[in-house]
Amino acid sequence: MGADQVEYLGFLITAEGSRPLPEKAQAILNYKLPETIHDLRTFLGMINFYRRYLKDAAKTQAPLHELLKGAKKKDRRKVHWTDDTRRSFEKCKTGLAEAALLSFPKSGLPLSLCTDASDFAVGAVLQQLENEGWKPIAFYSKKLNETQTRFQIFQLIHGLAHPGIKSTVKLMTEKYVWSDIKKQVREWAKACIRCQKCKVSRHTKSKLGEFEQPDERFSVVHIDLIGKLPPSEGMQYCLTCIDRFSCWMEAIPILEITAEIVGRAF
Ligand SMILES: [Zn+2]
Repeated sequence: MGADQVEYLGFLITAEGSRPLPEKAQAILNYKLPETIHDLRTFLGMINFYRRYLKDAAKTQAPLHELLKGAKKKDRRKVHWTDDTRRSFEKCKTGLAEAALLSFPKSGLPLSLCTDASDFAVGAVLQQLENEGWKPIAFYSKKLNETQTRFQIFQLIHGLAHPGIKSTVKLMTEKYVWSDIKKQVREWAKACIRCQKCKVSRHTKSKLGEFEQPDERFSVVHIDLIGKLPPSEGMQYCLTCIDRFSCWMEAIPILEITAEIVGRAF
């Protein structure tokens, strides 16, 4: 006779899926507010053993991880709890208490991946459509590093209406402060693809890119126009063409720089 559920390495496994083992989860739920940095780290380690079952774990735990910044191994220093961090601690526990039953992935079922991002964390849940309902298979979440967080903020603010570079810098500096904020925001705004596509009249200077080395003659030809020059036999402009592979160069005098004349000359 097979059992309809088994315990395995801290997990309870049933025919439908798996979830944290109730007594292990209970031990974490009974965990007292950690007094030392070391205790806090132990708590986070325990809870993260079940991370796959926790929705938005990174977001919930972020304030607690802040407390570990600069901590040493076996750090016996006291944690300075605030209302905020105490709330995070409780939230971690509630999250575990409500931990979802995760279905086993079954081949052939439709999958969906829902993602969500806040100011400082990204989260995702992978689900499968089973008996007309979406069942979670796994949760994923990650805290963003400083630059990623800042970029996230930039995208939130700039992404609403894609204002120009100056306005974006103004909006950002009204609300946020970090070193080099103006420079960084200016660069991000300059590089925004949507803005570049919409505002063709604006000159955007893109960063110098690496050209791939062509391996054939005339597969890549750089052209440029020079002029207006003093007239010579009626010609006032020059079309220059350089083959990138052989560096063969041509300069063709032309009358005007209309697309038609340049095209024909080329
Ligand atoms: Zn933009």
